Amino acid sequence: DSGEIKILLLENLNQSGVALLKKEGYQVESIKTALPEDVLIEKIREVHAIGIRSKTKLTKKILQEAKKLLAIGCFCIGTNQVDLETAANRGIAVFNSPFSNSRSVAELVIAEIISLSRHLGDRNIELHQGNWNKVSSQCYEIRGKTLGIVGYGHIGSQLSVLAESMGMTVFFHDVIQLMPLGKAKQVNTLYELLEQSDFVSLHVPETEETKNMIGEEEIARMKKRSYLINASRGTIVQIPSLIKALQNGHLLGAAIDVFPKEPAANGQFFNNELNSWTSDLLACKNVILTPHIGGSTEEAQYMIGLEVGAALVKYINYGTSIGAVNFPEVDLRAIQITEKSIRLLFCHYNVPGVLKEINEILSDHNVDKQYTDSRGNIAYMMADISDVNDQDIKKIYESVSSNRANILTRIVY
Ligand code: NAD
Repeated sequence: DSGEIKILLLENLNQSGVALLKKEGYQVESIKTALPEDVLIEKIREVHAIGIRSKTKLTKKILQEAKKLLAIGCFCIGTNQVDLETAANRGIAVFNSPFSNSRSVAELVIAEIISLSRHLGDRNIELHQGNWNKVSSQCYEIRGKTLGIVGYGHIGSQLSVLAESMGMTVFFHDVIQLMPLGKAKQVNTLYELLEQSDFVSLHVPETEETKNMIGEEEIARMKKRSYLINASRGTIVQIPSLIKALQNGHLLGAAIDVFPKEPAANGQFFNNELNSWTSDLLACKNVILTPHIGGSTEEAQYMIGLEVGAALVKYINYGTSIGAVNFPEVDLRAIQITEKSIRLLFCHYNVPGVLKEINEILSDHNVDKQYTDSRGNIAYMMADISDVNDQDIKKIYESVSSNRANILTRIVY
């Protein structure tokens, strides 16, 4: 019964998520701040789901107290504030919202392409200092220029559409073959892209392959007097190589939103102590620096509320774990709920022979659909079973939940 589900929301989550969970009929407590550890421990014992942002650290110590907790919603992008492994081992699925701010990032990049082309950053700083400096030399329209997008995922593809609508020619490079949007063209190699782009914008994830992906050699391959934009992850560009290319005029400018090391809080922290090259970068002309704000908009916050809220509802009500970051992702399509049907959810340790044991328990019943997936040492089975009475349900629950590999067994509807 959804009225019995208790949800604790911390850190002033967006109303979109709060409203969505309330509408489901859950008991929702929404608190504006993070909680001190002792209060959090007290509260987490009672709830079935918790929504947090980056300030609430869900450590092993805290998660061990969470006896009823089914799911954690990180209403943000990052999930390293949660001990994901402990959560998985306790059958707690963790969700986040990686794509709700894609549009915001793409729009920022469009702004940066124009700003770099017109030296807006420098003109703005100069005029703020009282210095009238009207120039047109090396200022350009972006129409007809070439944009090279590295990584054609959620953000890269949005950017492609926006850039084309302003008359740019778009090339992209990705490790997988993708359907180009509009007139964009996929190129086979990174070098091929670098060699023909007036603007190069990076939109790859942080992986072993993308770390230091853009260094001296790659920058040298870029067109003379082109621009580099990085709003992906700070480790992808080797900043000292970028500084060199800006100093010697090979690049006309750059926009950087993400850095190898970023301050943990707002304040006067962007200096050489943080990254040794900071003052050299600050001294370069036509460089737009922003404090990792690519995805920071009201719209993105609203979308995060909806996206994570919906993921929690689907997991609590139907066991759907699609989008979980620490858990096997399992779903069954076309749920046909009748009075006599149930969905069995069995989170268990991934050990040999378990499925055989569970299927023996289910063998007397009509299993309409069944799916199991595993991730590391955790496995998750979902089965829709029809024509069961109350007695059957009780028996199934008791037998499955007492299986040797059981972490958490649930029966929904
Ligand atoms: P996505 O997963 O949707 O797309 C990434 C694309 O990169 C995929 O198509 C993938 O195949 C491709 N790719 C992976 N490795 C590659 C490689 N070595 N070479 C070429 N292509 C490769 O990701 P997204 O949501 O578009 O995000 C892209 C980046 O933006 C991520 O690093 C993300 O962390 C970052 N991001 C930054 C902000 C910000 O505030 N600046 C906000 C959101 C996301």
